[in-house]
Amino acid sequence: MAKGVGQELGRSEILLGSLSVQQFVGVEQEEIGMSACRHLIIVLGDQLNHDSAAFDGFDAATDVVLMVEAREESTHVWSHKARTALFLSAMRHFAAELRDKQIRVDYRELNVHREATLQAGWFAAVERHRPESIVCVEPGDMRVWQALNVTAAKARLPLDIRPDRHFMCSREAFAKWAGTSKSLRMEFFYRNMRREHGVLMEGSEPLGGQWNFDVENRKPWRGQPAEPIDTRAQHNHAELWQTIQNAGVASFGEPHAADFRWPLNRDDALQQLQSFITCVLPHFGDFQDAMSTKATRLFHSQLSFALNVKMLSPHEVIDAAENAWRDGQAPLASVEGFIRQILGWREYIRGVYWAHMPGYENNNVLNHNTPLPEWFWNGETRMRCLADSIGNSLQHAHAHHIQRLMVIGNFALLAGLDPQALHHWYLGIYIDAFEWVELPNTLGMSQFADGGLLASKPYVSSAAYINKMGDYCKGCSYKKDQRIGENACPFNALYWDFHVRHADKLSRNPRIGMVYRNLAKMSVLETEAIRVQAESIRARLQVL
Ligand code: FAD
Ligand code: SF4
Repeated sequence: MAKGVGQELGRSEILLGSLSVQQFVGVEQEEIGMSACRHLIIVLGDQLNHDSAAFDGFDAATDVVLMVEAREESTHVWSHKARTALFLSAMRHFAAELRDKQIRVDYRELNVHREATLQAGWFAAVERHRPESIVCVEPGDMRVWQALNVTAAKARLPLDIRPDRHFMCSREAFAKWAGTSKSLRMEFFYRNMRREHGVLMEGSEPLGGQWNFDVENRKPWRGQPAEPIDTRAQHNHAELWQTIQNAGVASFGEPHAADFRWPLNRDDALQQLQSFITCVLPHFGDFQDAMSTKATRLFHSQLSFALNVKMLSPHEVIDAAENAWRDGQAPLASVEGFIRQILGWREYIRGVYWAHMPGYENNNVLNHNTPLPEWFWNGETRMRCLADSIGNSLQHAHAHHIQRLMVIGNFALLAGLDPQALHHWYLGIYIDAFEWVELPNTLGMSQFADGGLLASKPYVSSAAYINKMGDYCKGCSYKKDQRIGENACPFNALYWDFHVRHADKLSRNPRIGMVYRNLAKMSVLETEAIRVQAESIRARLQVL
């Protein structure tokens, strides 16, 4: 018999946030038993949802839940240590909660079983439990979906893949809405979702008479109101991290990122939701697009991890936000702006991923292929906006949306960085990164690598926008108002040069007609100077 999880780990007291290994182990291996089971229910690391369809018809006497920690999940892209530690800690908490409900869980720990891949763990469990069938809820990522199918086929077992009820738009419904369109628009999708789910509606009309409050939601933040105090509980994962390293997982990131405040279980996540709704949501809209060196969070929710591992459902988050408006706790513009992110963008992004995978990951219509500069891994650049945004990412495994999109992604697109390399960077660095949500955001929204399938125009800007929305430019060694010269802000020349280089693909786009009209007004000397400046910037990316 394989060495028991409890026997192996009972010797050490590894702290998993607030959960010790002895609590976690809960049952000895013998309890799981070697006898044949009916359903082997695979719960993936981002399916920590007690209401999951995986548990429909669950029979505690005959079914076994299987959870596998596989090394590959932390190494297939070079991953931040906080991302890996949090992921495993949350999985272990969920397994303990299932056991508290008397559910038999075969939890295959990285440090005990040392399984390189999910498939290896699944096969070992199939051997052990000899199930009649395998059950799983739709995996988020295509790679895992394929692996599941291969496993079931090789094991000659029926595979019951159940719909993921977490999402508010099924993959089929999205595919039907998208049809064969070559350019999708989030705004129309979002309006349909509002109507279908009756969110912020008054009969058939949007509350407040408009669908969108974007114009009100674009204020810079000048220090008032103060950034909310971080009341989230802090968890120490140093020992868990040591265990993970001992199991051969290489990683990167700031050492103290082992102490972090992301939720480990649903109770934590609910507390964070409540505190966001009460203290932060009222200001979300106003400062949704703001950036600041003095505040890393500003008024964002920090709920993406809890949502993506399904500790929270989008329904309950949306309901809580809508109720805050109904109770007079938050203005409509803030509530609509927040709900749009979840009911709109998040569902839309997932729909795009599944409607266009496999294949979407290879998109690179602008033929960009410059490798990422070294400072993506240490934040050491004189460009203050990038130093701050990348520094945040490396330190906290998180950066807010505008840093991801309008600083890091903006620069990458203007400089012509390889979108696939960038995709791997985003996937490895952020605490909330899962391919279904990260890939379309990076390739589609941020890099326009899908040629405009997802976004109506490239999200690029010169220093003017970054300066308007934040305080980066004031202390920067580059000059925000200069286009040419050694100290000119690199965004400026790159911005114009980007539009010149890709005029064949972009100049007919009505949303950026103004850019091309302005370019047409420039003299030949001016455009040539921009070209030379941009070329020189691209040649010295490493030392900017
Ligand atoms: P808030 O600003 O408070 O927004 C509320 C919620 O809305 C988020 O928690 C998230 O669930 C959802 N949301 C907002 N924008 C998006 C979006 N564009 N796509 C999907 N959901 C959205 N989000 C991820 O969850 N995982 C990723 O790997 C990821 N990668 C990104 C990569 C790039 C290049 C860009 C531009 C964006 C990416 N996003 C990703 C979207 C967004 O930046 C994060 O969801 C957000 O910053 C998370 O912080 P928050 O919870 O405080 O968000
Ligand atoms: Fe960034 Fe340019 Fe502003 Fe410096 S001047 S912070 S590089 S936008």
